[in-house]
Amino acid sequence: MAKYKFFAEVNKNFDKAAAYTKHPKGLLEHIKSCNTVYRVAFPLRRDNGSVETIHGWRAEHSHHKLPTKGGIRYAMSVNEDEVMALAALMTYKCAVVDVPFGGAKGGIKIDKSKYSQAELERITRRFTFELVKKNFIGPGVDVPAPDYGTGEQEMSWIMDTYKAMTHDLNAEGCVTGKPVAQGGIRGRREATGLGVYYGTRECCSNAEDMKAVGLTTGIEGKRVIVQGLGNVGYHAAKFFMEGGAVITGIAEFEGGIFNPKGLDVEKVFQHRKETGSILHFPGAQNVTPSTELLTYECDILIPAALENQLNETNAHLIKAKIIAEAANGPTTSEAHNIIKSRGALIIPDSFINAGGVTVSYFEWLKNLSHVRFGRMEKRHEERSYLKLAQAIEEMSSKSFSVDRIRELSLGADERELVYSGLEDTMIVAYNEINEIRKRNDVDLRTAAFISSINKIAVLYEQMGIFP
Ligand code: NAD
Repeated sequence: MAKYKFFAEVNKNFDKAAAYTKHPKGLLEHIKSCNTVYRVAFPLRRDNGSVETIHGWRAEHSHHKLPTKGGIRYAMSVNEDEVMALAALMTYKCAVVDVPFGGAKGGIKIDKSKYSQAELERITRRFTFELVKKNFIGPGVDVPAPDYGTGEQEMSWIMDTYKAMTHDLNAEGCVTGKPVAQGGIRGRREATGLGVYYGTRECCSNAEDMKAVGLTTGIEGKRVIVQGLGNVGYHAAKFFMEGGAVITGIAEFEGGIFNPKGLDVEKVFQHRKETGSILHFPGAQNVTPSTELLTYECDILIPAALENQLNETNAHLIKAKIIAEAANGPTTSEAHNIIKSRGALIIPDSFINAGGVTVSYFEWLKNLSHVRFGRMEKRHEERSYLKLAQAIEEMSSKSFSVDRIRELSLGADERELVYSGLEDTMIVAYNEINEIRKRNDVDLRTAAFISSINKIAVLYEQMGIFP
């Protein structure tokens, strides 16, 4: 097991939670195991004519529901252990938020910054080709999504390659996180960050739980530090800021910045775009190394970069009262225990970053139905609301202003429907795991695992496989 450290960490959490369930040992062992791992090596011709070998993996952790689902990561940290661990987290995450997928994850071991756009396109298309060859991709088989180091561009290459090779009518559903023009869905780009916001807001609305960590309810005025200004971190920070929180610190590769009065996330983003770094942002103090910032006084800490960021070397220095694990596996189990013993509340990754897969699910549904959400009903809804407003006017003999009528009669478009579905998912799932937490006197991570183990086990038990 020494070879599989991150996967072993995930399994440690599984075992802890499994002790609170009554399922047969054999069934629990089966749920925990990683079903299949595909390892591939292929040649890349670089722009300068040289040839390099690229290594990639795709792990499908559980096939209890199909398709399996999980992102594709481009990073030097990628290895078999990492994809297996992340695939397992996907299984549990999907179950926590009732998204009907098994868990999967893929990755390519590259430093993206060392390759040209044309080279990245060749790598992505060739990796997709290898996945198609082995039946590791398809709308009913396994559906990748963006993760660390990948985004809409890579998903678009994946879809195009799959479509060219298969002529599948449902080809658009072979991958999510695509650009809208290629079958993507409005709201997917910001979904994970927005889910982090909705989930944390729900947690902060519980007066009893907030009192226990020494905070008042609500997001307004809470001091937030974010690690990683990528897709997840940037959007999470933006939604927290819009919700009235004060973003006091942002940590990136090159260093961190801190301003107790608050940082304007959009301006920091633009500053990084223009100067290549978040450092020297007007009015903020530079913090190096950026890991220092994780130990600063704040109410909510959002690690949104990579795994193992909160570990036994810094856990005892962390002062945040709430840790919202936007990244996958940012807290080691030792760190978890140290932080917990201080009384802080850890909102686990398997719940709090599930916004991405939730909206990926909506995108996949859109692709299979071949119709945009809201297309059929929007105008009909608007006419009904208008009639209702007119009836109220007639009954009250008072008139609404033109602007008010427009506002009252507006039907929901795709983005609004996606936000609504995501908000409901995060609220329902939070209350479900929080209730399990209280009933069993455990932490939220264990509660989330108990919730998913029970949901998956019931499925097998009903199939009569493990009576
Ligand atoms: P990303 O590549 O868009 O952004 C990651 C950011 O973190 C980059 O800006 C990078 O420079 C920064 N970073 C890397 N190492 C750092 C360090 N040591 N200190 C500070 N900053 C550092 O990736 P992302 O999609 O935002 O993913 C981030 C995390 O969220 C990953 O753990 C990923 O698995 C998880 N996640 C992503 C999604 C999604 O929809 N993209 C969904 C669920 C979970």
